[in-house]
Amino acid sequence: MIKLEKPDIDVESIITDCTANLTKQPILTHINASKTTIVSKSEKYNELAEKGQLGTLETHTMIEGGATKDDMVWLYDNKFVADGGRKYYDKIKAIPKYSKCPFCGVGIVSTLDHYLPKTKYPTYALTPVNLIACCADCNKNKKSEISETRNNEFIHPYYDDFNDEVWLKVKIVFDEEIIFSFYAEKPNTWEQEKYERAKNHLRKLQLNKLYVAHCGEEFSEYRDTAKDLYKKGGEELVREDLICRIEERRRVTKNNWRAALYEGLLESQDFFDKFLMS
Ligand SMILES: [Zn+2]
Repeated sequence: MIKLEKPDIDVESIITDCTANLTKQPILTHINASKTTIVSKSEKYNELAEKGQLGTLETHTMIEGGATKDDMVWLYDNKFVADGGRKYYDKIKAIPKYSKCPFCGVGIVSTLDHYLPKTKYPTYALTPVNLIACCADCNKNKKSEISETRNNEFIHPYYDDFNDEVWLKVKIVFDEEIIFSFYAEKPNTWEQEKYERAKNHLRKLQLNKLYVAHCGEEFSEYRDTAKDLYKKGGEELVREDLICRIEERRRVTKNNWRAALYEGLLESQDFFDKFLMS
């Protein structure tokens, strides 16, 4: 949901620093023999991602030169996260502003996610543009799933701009209980594929559940303010207030649950007729 600046780090430096004090064999020999391939394939990753063609990359367990999936996973866990590569790990983790998770826009960054899972695409286990700072929940919900089609590809924070239009919406039902449900609405300028990806992203990362939880609290804080405004200036004053809140919350990013909540209220006649009048 939140677009990030790409990390200004090259994979060659990462491998050099991760293998600087490595003596373990045969990993060292394997990694050194595969280094050139990893560097060139990482460049290709960037080219493909720019064109939205990461889906053309195939899963694999071996890298040309001899490095295996296990070598790369070992190197990531023991040298990138915990030793010579840690400075790069920390640099990538620090990319999101305010430590906000780019996948959900709510959680606090606590880990790095492999956009293409390292167990299925070991070549890119250390590729900076494949490493995304995110929250623990998104990392867990994303799992090591691979996308069968472009429609199922998660939003890639370094390459995809999903804030060109407003698409995150919430339906609010005023009954005995107030029920919120978040969904993606297709903007007119979008192709079907982009819309499918937004829906997939919401569903797979279970963002409705997350946003509803936050929404309930925000609404319980706002409800009395809205009722006071309604008493003072009627529907018009409440509408003005909602518009200000939406504009304020869209200044940084167009799609966020708060803006969607206030827009949902603005568009709900039941909010004015059933809720505020009661
Ligand atoms: Zn998240």
